Amino acid sequence: MNDTQNNTSAYDTSLSADKESMAGLNFIEQIVVKDLAQGKNDGRLQTRFPPEPNGYLHIGHAKAICMDFGIAKKYNGICNLRFDDTNPLKEDMEYMDAIKEDIKWLGFDWAGEYYASDYFQQLWDLAVRLIKEGRAYVDEQSAEQIAQQKGTPTRPGTDSLYRNRPIEESLELFEKMNSGEIEEGKMVLRAKIDMANSNMHFRDPIIYRVVNHPHPRTGSKWKAYPMYDFAHGQSDFFEGVTHSLCTLEFVPHRPLYDLFIDWVKEGQDLEDHRPRQYEFNKLNLNYVLLSKRNLLIMVKEGLVDGWDDPRMPTLCGFRRRGYSPEGIRKFVDKIGYTTFDALNDFALLESAIREDLNERATRVSAVLKPVKLVITNYPEGQTEEMQAIDNPEHPEAGCHTITFSRELWIEQDDFMEDAPKKYFRLTPGKEVRLKNAYIVECSGCKKDDEGNVTEIYCTYDPDSKSGMPGANRKVKGTIHWLSTQHCNKSEVRLYDRLWMVENPRDELASLQENEKCDALTAMKKMINPHSLDVLNDCYVEPYLEELYERGEKYLQFQRIGYFTFDKNSSSEKLIFNRTVSLKDSWKK
Ligand code: ATP
Ligand code: MG
Repeated sequence: MNDTQNNTSAYDTSLSADKESMAGLNFIEQIVVKDLAQGKNDGRLQTRFPPEPNGYLHIGHAKAICMDFGIAKKYNGICNLRFDDTNPLKEDMEYMDAIKEDIKWLGFDWAGEYYASDYFQQLWDLAVRLIKEGRAYVDEQSAEQIAQQKGTPTRPGTDSLYRNRPIEESLELFEKMNSGEIEEGKMVLRAKIDMANSNMHFRDPIIYRVVNHPHPRTGSKWKAYPMYDFAHGQSDFFEGVTHSLCTLEFVPHRPLYDLFIDWVKEGQDLEDHRPRQYEFNKLNLNYVLLSKRNLLIMVKEGLVDGWDDPRMPTLCGFRRRGYSPEGIRKFVDKIGYTTFDALNDFALLESAIREDLNERATRVSAVLKPVKLVITNYPEGQTEEMQAIDNPEHPEAGCHTITFSRELWIEQDDFMEDAPKKYFRLTPGKEVRLKNAYIVECSGCKKDDEGNVTEIYCTYDPDSKSGMPGANRKVKGTIHWLSTQHCNKSEVRLYDRLWMVENPRDELASLQENEKCDALTAMKKMINPHSLDVLNDCYVEPYLEELYERGEKYLQFQRIGYFTFDKNSSSEKLIFNRTVSLKDSWKK
C-alpha cells in the first residue's frame, strides 16, 4: 500500500444522500455520495484513470477522464494515473508521454503516477501462491484448443487435460515461463475456477502468458506477463482505489474482478478495504471511429497524417484542429453518463465547441475564395484605419485596426450578377455594408472570356462610415473584406467528416464479417475521400501575424467559422485549420 492511502480525504459530511441532494447527479455520483454519506472506505474516495499506453487518447477517453478525475475533484477524493502496461508488444514510452500531455491539456492532474508493472512482483507472488493452493495450473495446450474447450454460455466447457497436474509441476513450469525457456504461446497459467460457470470469464481464465519482448519499463526482467483481468482489480486493491470506474464492456468481468480481490485478501494480512467496479456507457459518436486499435491502423497505413491529424478524434488531433479543452468538457457534461450504449451526435460536440469558442475567439477577417472589388469613387492611394472589435462578447478585450483602401478582396460568394430577391449581398444596383467601414452600392462587374467574374465595381457613400449620420440607414447585408495591398496570402485547410457512414464502429465490424476482409480494407470502403480541402489562395489580415507571435489559439474568421493556426505555421507562412464552421453544416 502506498502513502496516497493515508491521504484520507475529509468529506463534507453536511452533504447527505437524500433525494433532494441526489437530484441532478449522474448514477455514479449518486453511488459515491451514498458511500461517502455512509462512511464507507473510511470516508475516502479514490479513483484511477487506467489507460493502456498503446496509442493516443481520443474523445472517448475524455469522457472517462472527466468522470475519473472530475468526481474525485468534486468530492475531495484523489485520482491516480495508472498505466495498464501489461502487454509489452503494443506499448511504448511515446504513448505514455502523449497520454500525460493530453490529460493535463484537458485540465486534470493526477495525485500519483502508477504502472501495472509496479505490481508485477506482487502479482507474480500471488500467482505462485494460487498454484500452491491448487487454484492455478500451467496449461500447455494451444490457444485454439483452449478456445474449443470453452463451451458456450449454455453448454459447459471441457476440462483441460492439464487441469489436475501436480502442483510441483505447475510451479516449475511457471518459473520456466518467466525465464525465457518457454516459447510464446506454448504455455499459459490458468486460474482453476469453474468450467461450467454461466459466466464464460470463470471458465479457467488465462492469467499469465509468455511475451518474449522487452517491456518499456521493466526491460527483460519478466517474460511471463499477467493478463488484464489478473492485473487490474489487484492493482486497484494494492493502490487503495475505492471506486473503479470503467465502461460497460467490463460488466461481465466484474464477478472475476471481485473473485480475484477475494483471493488476494484471503489469508493475507492486508488492509481491509475493497475496490468496487462500476460501469458507464462508452462514448460512440456518429461519423467517428474511436478505439486506439483502429486509430493505430489509420496512422500506420497512412489514411491520415499522424495521430494529431486534425481529422482524428484524438485529443491531440482536436487540439491541433483548434478545439478548446473547455469545449470538450462542456460536451462531456452535456451527454452525461448512463448504462445504455448510445450513438451521440457529432453536431452536439461541435455545438459545444462553438459555444465555448464564441467566448474565446478573436474576430478577424479572412477571404478564402477571393475576387477583387474596386470602389471607383474612392481616391487612389488613399487608406484609412478602421476599428475592428476583437471579441464582441468581451468588448473590454479591445480593438485592432484594419486598413481600408480602394481595392479590396471579397468572397466570390458575396457577389451575384443575377441575384434572387432574398440575396442580401452584392448585386448590381443594391447596397451592402462593408464590415467596420462604409456602405457601398454595386455598379457592375467585369468578366473573362469564359464568363467568370474577374472584378466587381461599386461606389461608396463617404458619410456612411460607422458613427457618421449616413450610417444609420437600413442595409440588409454586411460583408467582410481585405485591402488587396494590406493583407497576407495564406493557406487554409478545411476539414469534413472522415467517414461516410453514420456508425463506423458497427459498419467496420459488419464489413469485416460479411466481406471477410481485414480492417484496413473495410476502412478504405468507408472513408470519405474529400475530408480535406486545402485552399492556397486565401488572404488574411496582417493582425494575424501579431496574434500568431502572441501564441493566440482561437480565432474566428468573421462570417466563416472558427479557425486556429496549424502547428506547421511559421511567421513567414501562416497555415490555418478550420475548427468548426459558424453554423451546423452537417445537416446538408
Ligand atoms: P481503446 O479501445 O480505444 O484502446 P480502451 O478501452 O482499450 O480503448 P484504455 O486505454 O484501456 O482504452 O482505457 C482507459 C479508460 O478509458 C478505460 O477506463 C476505458 O473504459 C475508457 N474508455 C475507452 N474508450 C472509451 C469510450 N469510447 N468512452 C468512454 N470511456 C472510454
Ligand atoms: Mg484497450
